[in-house]
Amino acid sequence: MSIEARVATIIDQVIRRNPGEVEFHQAVREVAETLGPVLRKHPEFSHHKIIERICEPERQVIFRVPWQDTHAEVQINRGFRVGFNSALGPYKGGLRFHPSVYLGVIKFLAFEQIFKNAITGMPIGGAKGGSDFDPKGKTDGEVMRFCQSFMTELYRHLGEHTDVPAGDIGVGAREIGYLFGQYKRITNRYESGVLTGKSPEWGGALVRKESTGYGLIFFVEEMLKARGQTLEGKTAVVSGSGNVAIYAMEKLQALGVRVVACSDSNGVVHDPQGIDVEAVKRIKEVERGRLESYGRGSGKAKYIAQGCVWDIPCQIALPCATQNELDERAARALVGNGCIVVAEGANMPTTPEATHLFIDAGVAFGPGKAANAGGVATSALEMQQNASRDAWTFEFTENRLREIMRKIHADCYAVADEYGKPGNYVIGANIAGFLRVARAMLAFGLV
Ligand code: NDP
Repeated sequence: MSIEARVATIIDQVIRRNPGEVEFHQAVREVAETLGPVLRKHPEFSHHKIIERICEPERQVIFRVPWQDTHAEVQINRGFRVGFNSALGPYKGGLRFHPSVYLGVIKFLAFEQIFKNAITGMPIGGAKGGSDFDPKGKTDGEVMRFCQSFMTELYRHLGEHTDVPAGDIGVGAREIGYLFGQYKRITNRYESGVLTGKSPEWGGALVRKESTGYGLIFFVEEMLKARGQTLEGKTAVVSGSGNVAIYAMEKLQALGVRVVACSDSNGVVHDPQGIDVEAVKRIKEVERGRLESYGRGSGKAKYIAQGCVWDIPCQIALPCATQNELDERAARALVGNGCIVVAEGANMPTTPEATHLFIDAGVAFGPGKAANAGGVATSALEMQQNASRDAWTFEFTENRLREIMRKIHADCYAVADEYGKPGNYVIGANIAGFLRVARAMLAFGLV
């Protein structure tokens, strides 16, 4: 059987064995279709069925999460944790609380996390978890009761050497606090390294909150450098206004970029003079409100209900909200408006058609596996600090993050070159990550 036919068969099997999990199918196809040249160079990976094994999660847990709302009414949600691959270290990956969560979303995220974690060079495996619980509009007490119930089942599957969750959509420092409190209470252990994204006041790394957004910009800086350009003076558009988007905007502005738009799931704010990031922080982090209230009464900014952020002209476009939020039509609009760099702060935000369009148009395209790896890399730094009972300064941790992002960029760039696709970060990231995991799996035998 030819290598291409073999890869096609593997994808078909994944689709057949995991019916209805369309995001997971998309994530597997995206990686598998780039691995032909690797199989040609390394027949041992085919012989030992490494791709087939990587596509099957090592473990999946699905559980009931009952809790009581403020009206004493019983609510029932579903909890998930998928430990996809532990060849390089304990399972590591965030928890997502969002109504759209189901097994297919968690599996796509966990699958991507395997390769992302591998290219950070840190000793961490790939996992993801979450629930269809919607924290939006809930009181602190409701969120706490939900988190306590969620952890009452999940704790038995965790451990600093086994599985270490963090945050993702809908899970920030508040939720991590409630989850850690319940874990500590049930296990009778102050095991700081069991969760990352903790508050710096009790074991969290400084810069973890900022790390995915800052890391994304350090990666974009390298992408531009590779093309003989700099960030200074450019215009950017960012989707989302959550953790990743806010700190991406903050770092862009610090490095001389004008960010003219951001969004939430209800609409877009267009502020041609530059988004006021402190105002967005206040609305999202303090008030837990909606972007609609941004600039109310000031007359400068325009709020476009249900608008598309990608229609606003920019040179740098950073999707930082959710999967498949940037489609072919949007990609055409961006290219038409002169966009030169697209880098994914979110996981799989660009559809396959849009990704191909960018690459064909010569736009520098940074896939999430590489471009947003700064978050998990800083989580691994948090684990190091917890293990050594140390606490590093903001500057020290930020410098380490910048070095890690530079190295990820250099590795992806070099591997893309080696495999005959210079400048193609999709190929570079997929192959660099895969090789690390595959070599470890071979070393361990059939486990
Ligand atoms: P947050 O919950 O802090 O923010 C998510 C943002 O995206 C919000 O502005 C939200 O708007 C918007 N959003 C979410 N779902 C949708 C949707 N279906 N349609 C439109 N907008 C949506 O999450 P994060 O910033 O932490 O995560 C954003 C992305 O980055 C995710 O893909 C996540 O997997 C990825 N990521 C996060 C990392 C981290 O460290 N946090 C690390 C690596 C990747 P609204 O408030 O209206 O829902």
